[in-house]
Amino acid sequence: MNGDEIIKKQDEFMLPATREGRYPLVLVEGKGAILKDINRKEYIDCHGGYAVVTLGHCHPDVVKAIVEQTEKIWHVSWDFYLESTSLLAERIAQVCPGKLKKTLFSNSGAEAVENAVKLAKKRAFTNGREGTQIVSLNGSFHGRTSYAMSLTGQNKYKKGLSTFVNPNVVHAPAPYCYRCPFSMTYPECDLHCAKHLEHVIKYETSGDIAAFISEPIFGEGGIIVPPEPYLKEAVKIFKEYDAIYIADEVQTGFAKTGKLFGVEWYGVEPDVMTLAKGIASGLPLAATVATDEVSGSLTSIDHCATYGGNAVVCAAALENINVMLRERLHKKALDLGKIFMEGFSKLEEKHSSIGEVRGKGLMIGVEIVKDKKSKVPDKAECGRIRKKAMKKGVLVNSGGILGNVLRVQPPLAISEEQTKKVIEILAYAFKP
Ligand code: PLP
Repeated sequence: MNGDEIIKKQDEFMLPATREGRYPLVLVEGKGAILKDINRKEYIDCHGGYAVVTLGHCHPDVVKAIVEQTEKIWHVSWDFYLESTSLLAERIAQVCPGKLKKTLFSNSGAEAVENAVKLAKKRAFTNGREGTQIVSLNGSFHGRTSYAMSLTGQNKYKKGLSTFVNPNVVHAPAPYCYRCPFSMTYPECDLHCAKHLEHVIKYETSGDIAAFISEPIFGEGGIIVPPEPYLKEAVKIFKEYDAIYIADEVQTGFAKTGKLFGVEWYGVEPDVMTLAKGIASGLPLAATVATDEVSGSLTSIDHCATYGGNAVVCAAALENINVMLRERLHKKALDLGKIFMEGFSKLEEKHSSIGEVRGKGLMIGVEIVKDKKSKVPDKAECGRIRKKAMKKGVLVNSGGILGNVLRVQPPLAISEEQTKKVIEILAYAFKP
């Protein structure tokens, strides 16, 4: 099939909703940080398939692990044991911070989040508490299924879907310093947004909280990096109410921020952590990891997932993680992240449309505004830059609560030379 035929067929036979925002680009091959389209044109992938392809496209060691596993066994169900599943669960326990030890496998980030909430609620129920609530943050993104969408702190995803929205989720102001909800400035604010959580609990909830959930660094919400002491302070407040901390590491997990997990930047130990995206760098796998104390509250009747922990995806994920550890890719993310930040900071000085550049490692956001003083978000300009960069061979994503943040999230396979090329092309794309 040629490119036009593929586009026509996909548009004809898939829901219109899946087409909106899609670029007329048919991709046929990926290696490392490079994607090729049907005309053999090359692109440096700083989009990462929604920050999924963390290791890079088609890493040869992972390909080998997949091929070997597909020739042995694919799927059996939760009624039986599998070698690759057991090895992956062990590896996850070895690399996760603190006392996180027990894994529940599923297929997508949203599912991992739903399962985390189930664990929190069942833990509270086991301790004699019913009707508990969950506190999440404004501007967050946790997925599109009912509870995950309820936790997501952005109403644009909830329009016309009110029956999907769970009333037992309460949202608190985001630690979004560039657009501080209290119009304050860090550090003079004395971490007001964290301290305000006590107010939220006292006046906006029933007082019976099963869990506080947050992304250590907001991804889809616009690469929002909370002030360093925020998370510790927030978790401390919730612990006083016997609420557990769920770290949604679906996007921050697996080395891209410069640490294996985002929480490691903040010195907190989650009771539950959700993993997806980078766990298998492109195959559908997710995991909810819990401490012994929390995991014991779920019974076999409470949960099962037909495909969760499938032999092939587990073999891929195991090798994916092993390569990351072997090649110390978190360190590479830090080094290349520094080059990106230096390059973008220079651009920030030149362009009034760059409001802020922020991020950690290879998880970088560039907030596009009408001008630095007014900070009025410029979603259209963000889209223009994205398209211009694509024409020149760089794919970046966009997002943010206001839709005006360029998201630069390349695979860890990206080289220094490719990094510099991306900065050069984006410098060109930023020009009006
Ligand atoms: N949680 C976070 C932090 C995410 O970034 C996402 C997806 O972008 C999800 C959950 C949902 O993941 P999925 O799209 O795999 O359901």
